[in-house]
Amino acid sequence: MKDEYKACPERSRFFYFNNMLRIAIQSKGRLNEDSLSMLQSIGIEIDDPKRKFLSKARGFELETLFLRDDDIPGVVEAGTASLGIVGLNEVVERGANVEIVTRLGFGKCRISLAVPKNSGYDGLFWLEGKRIATSYPAILGRFLEEKGIHATTEIITGSVEIAPAAGIADCIFDIVSSGSTLISNGLIEVERVFESEAVLIADKNMPEEYVPALDELLFRIESHKTSRGMKYMMMNIPLASLDEATKILPAMRSPSVLPLASEGWCSLHSVVEASTMWEKIRQLKAIGAEGILVTDLDKIIL
Ligand code: ATP
Ligand code: MG
Repeated sequence: MKDEYKACPERSRFFYFNNMLRIAIQSKGRLNEDSLSMLQSIGIEIDDPKRKFLSKARGFELETLFLRDDDIPGVVEAGTASLGIVGLNEVVERGANVEIVTRLGFGKCRISLAVPKNSGYDGLFWLEGKRIATSYPAILGRFLEEKGIHATTEIITGSVEIAPAAGIADCIFDIVSSGSTLISNGLIEVERVFESEAVLIADKNMPEEYVPALDELLFRIESHKTSRGMKYMMMNIPLASLDEATKILPAMRSPSVLPLASEGWCSLHSVVEASTMWEKIRQLKAIGAEGILVTDLDKIIL
């Protein structure tokens, strides 16, 4: 057993198991699948994640601990897992003293104030003296204090959106992603207060020996994040249009130019943002590009 571990007898017995970097992941729910598929896309496979509590990964020295999302910030703060993947909303609500290492780009949502359609809401002052139902009393409390509003917080852990119709509250403060749940309960979103997404969190007292593994994990996550929303484009272009094509496709440094057997032509390869791809295709066709191929990108190492 390593000395650091002997020095922390109060830590859970799981802390000693296998002696490797451990990451806590939501066992089921909205973040489970995206967390596992992100790990898979960076070469980390988890065996039979549906049935296990603790599992050893393949392709990386890593152990996964499957938990309810509520428990992840606390488990990482205590060092039972050195890393965790959880919504930023949970980390902030629980006031967990953990390092937010990086945003992961999935599980995006917001916590908003929503009021009944015919409430006559006319600005934040409408909230004065009202009852607000929420599962996020800490984030709400901070917002109300900041705005100098006095309201009563009704803590509800289940379906917050039914509270106004049930007569429990005048309005709600809850997670919104598409907004369809609000509409079907006769509510409208009036203030977006907190933007959230899944984040990688770390124990602030992580044992030194895990740092190289964390660095490697982060390197892989960042190259995966960079490639998201990017496309690889290849095309044939008349040499006479090459300068113009290079301006349309600036790429990471500059596009690759390869010779073609046909005289007066070359092949151009580049990486573009998916959102701009159709516009670039239109511009490239206008200057004579032919045989345009577009493929997905898996990783980008800058
Ligand atoms: P658990 O059983 O693990 O406690 P849960 O029911 O508390 O799960 P989920 O509904 O699975 O939580 O949501 C997990 C996280 O997903 C949320 O904390 C939030 O960060 C994110 N999320 C993204 N979109 C939504 C949404 N529309 N509703 C709720 N959470 C969302
Ligand atoms: Mg939960």
